[in-house]
Amino acid sequence: MSLSSKPPFRIYRAPWVVPVTSQVLFDGAIVVDNETIVAVGAYSDISRLHPDLSVTVCSGGLLPALVNCHIHLELSVYGVIYPPTQTSNMCDWIKVLLQAREQANFSLDEIRAAAKKMAQTQYDSGIGLMLDTGNIDIGTFDSCPSEIYSLYEMLGPSKAATQKAIETIEHFSAEQSVTAHAPYSTSPNLLKVIKKRCRNQEQLFSIHLAENLDEGLLLSKGEGCFARFLQDRTGSDSPFPIPGIDSSTVVEYLQRLGILDSKTICVHCIHLNDEEIKIIADAEAHVCLCPGSNKFLSVGTVRLQALLDHGILPALGTDSIASNPSVDLWQEMALLRKEHPAVSPGSILSMATIGGARAMGRANDYGSLEAGKTARFLNIQDQEYEDVESSEQLLERLTISGKPESVKWL
Ligand SMILES: [Zn+2]
Repeated sequence: MSLSSKPPFRIYRAPWVVPVTSQVLFDGAIVVDNETIVAVGAYSDISRLHPDLSVTVCSGGLLPALVNCHIHLELSVYGVIYPPTQTSNMCDWIKVLLQAREQANFSLDEIRAAAKKMAQTQYDSGIGLMLDTGNIDIGTFDSCPSEIYSLYEMLGPSKAATQKAIETIEHFSAEQSVTAHAPYSTSPNLLKVIKKRCRNQEQLFSIHLAENLDEGLLLSKGEGCFARFLQDRTGSDSPFPIPGIDSSTVVEYLQRLGILDSKTICVHCIHLNDEEIKIIADAEAHVCLCPGSNKFLSVGTVRLQALLDHGILPALGTDSIASNPSVDLWQEMALLRKEHPAVSPGSILSMATIGGARAMGRANDYGSLEAGKTARFLNIQDQEYEDVESSEQLLERLTISGKPESVKWL
């Protein structure tokens, strides 16, 4: 049924409703008017206030749409890219990925078809909003009902590549959203140019950060696996090392360049010390975690409690299938729960919903069930939930059991 064919005012009632930003409601209800949520509450209260409205009775529960804050749809065509050996590092994986891109030589149509299929899979699993980052323009997917915000990702690991990237950016239309790949692949000059453009155009800026310890080694000393990798590809035309930074102050370096603000999303953020976390928190920059990708690439486990202690509620992302075979945000929640058993299930669910919505500047529409937000939410059902007796138990099951048996959009 299309949204436009729904009656203007109606009530959805379910055994439980999870607003995310407030307490779980047992026998809850949501009043919607066309595409907007009007009220959320206990069914007894809602039915008293709106006695004449038609009621759709759902089984299971109602949940806001999930937000996938980091994915690379264009890589879907390559499938899983396994590193050459079990002891390979992240640079070896990047080499295999680049080799696959160069050798497969997929057409734009093939890349688009795989990306479109992945976007639809994301929607079917309950993703209402996603942040997609890519190195080629794969266009838009009007047939996918999820909202997809796309960022064109630039790299400039040499002086020549930086110059070329800056020239490319100058020819982009004002609507083209541009971002930078990572501190280890993007010169300070290019980082500044891209962030300045994002600021002028009030666009999001997303950057892979602290995914691997060798990032700091490259920037501070010109050593480590990234240094060897760049030496092979660009020779001596390297902007690294950068004078005046040490390997534990990559975040401070980004702050000095003016990269960190409330429209910046720092993706991965595994190897951060307390001072770096504080800098990110003070700058009101956002953090997006991709635990599935981190596990696949064996790059470490994020200091989640330290982030939360500094007042940072991270967003969650799947990253691409190239480094995460499941590409499933429900699995990301389950993995985080297992890795951080002391963190509450409610916090984990918040990351997959309101955390992502805030990071993308879309909390007015997404991330929770509240009056005024978009009336696109989920009705989920699973045998796992049937015997729950408390909101704690419910949130536990929601975040540990993976994708529910049934995810329907309302
Ligand atoms: Zn990524």
